[in-house]
Amino acid sequence: MTAIERLQGKLTAGEGYLVITPVNRRYLTGFPSSLGYLLIGKEEAVLFLDGRYFEAGSKAVPASIQVEQTRKLSEQLAAAAGRMKIQKVYTETEISIRELEGLRRLLPNLQVEAREGLTAALESIRSVKSAGEADCIRRAQRIAEAALEEVLGLIQPGVTEAQIALELDYRMRKKGAEDTAFDTIAVAGPKSALPHGVPGDVQVQKGDFIVMDFGAVYGGYRSDMTRTVAVGYATDEMKKVYETVLAAQAAALEVLRPGLPCAEGDRAAREVIEKAGYGEYFNHSTGHGVGLEIHEYPNLTSRSEAVLEAGQIVTVEPGIYLPGRFGVRIEDMVWLTPGGCENLTAAPKALTIL
Ligand code: ZN
Ligand code: ZN
Repeated sequence: MTAIERLQGKLTAGEGYLVITPVNRRYLTGFPSSLGYLLIGKEEAVLFLDGRYFEAGSKAVPASIQVEQTRKLSEQLAAAAGRMKIQKVYTETEISIRELEGLRRLLPNLQVEAREGLTAALESIRSVKSAGEADCIRRAQRIAEAALEEVLGLIQPGVTEAQIALELDYRMRKKGAEDTAFDTIAVAGPKSALPHGVPGDVQVQKGDFIVMDFGAVYGGYRSDMTRTVAVGYATDEMKKVYETVLAAQAAALEVLRPGLPCAEGDRAAREVIEKAGYGEYFNHSTGHGVGLEIHEYPNLTSRSEAVLEAGQIVTVEPGIYLPGRFGVRIEDMVWLTPGGCENLTAAPKALTIL
């Protein structure tokens, strides 16, 4: 069953969906465009695209979706809604109030509502990846790993965080990434204790940990990984913290399987860190879904009520951050298989001292 058919199954007579966020429209139609309107009724779906996208879109979307070129959008939408007998249109809750008001002006004779149910349904459908989607993410991950391997050879005292980040970005692009998956993090020394630090002109020194969190985009899909390496040497405490984070990640990887509550996946990693005495220094969630967007449903947090499903791709990224001193994070991506999970990340994880 296609994603559109699954959404149609949730509609009752007189209801329709209007999908306007680019990421959901792309997901449902397979065609990326910055603007467009996808109207879904119980039996049919119509994609409205303007002159910039119409020709390419007509060829790219599956035959089950009709494509119309927008001329007088308001009239065209009203005509399609009339044909599909839609009186009530639900749109996504991610849109702005301004966009919602725009839609209401566009469809003055229909009831237009932003509905959490549509957003939640799309999040849940999108979280389960097909083999083709997983393949894009795997290829993005291979690109990121190949870039890391080269960049490790360039890291030495005196190199700046910004240079490391730039080299990762450049090498990912050179190896076929369409873009970077998000703003690359490369932070050294005391700044490694900032989970979302921004790379700057801090120079790498002997005895530093460097945390690198980065990913590539391939086929529209994102990868996400973090590796922490030491430069010159690592103190006993640095080694202890590193091994604790690695053990925490291994504990979570061990338990992840379909049917496991996300909160328990988080718990497995957190327990290891708490037992080692660093509980208060692991101040973020254990992981998140990845796909067309870098942060997707579900989240591996203590507050999550979600349960893992086969086909989902999530990160496992515990960390320990000692303020003003150093931090360690290790992040892999896994694909939930019927019996457990397959690690999509191949980069080595034993402590590397450059
Ligand atoms: Zn990451
Ligand atoms: Zn992540």
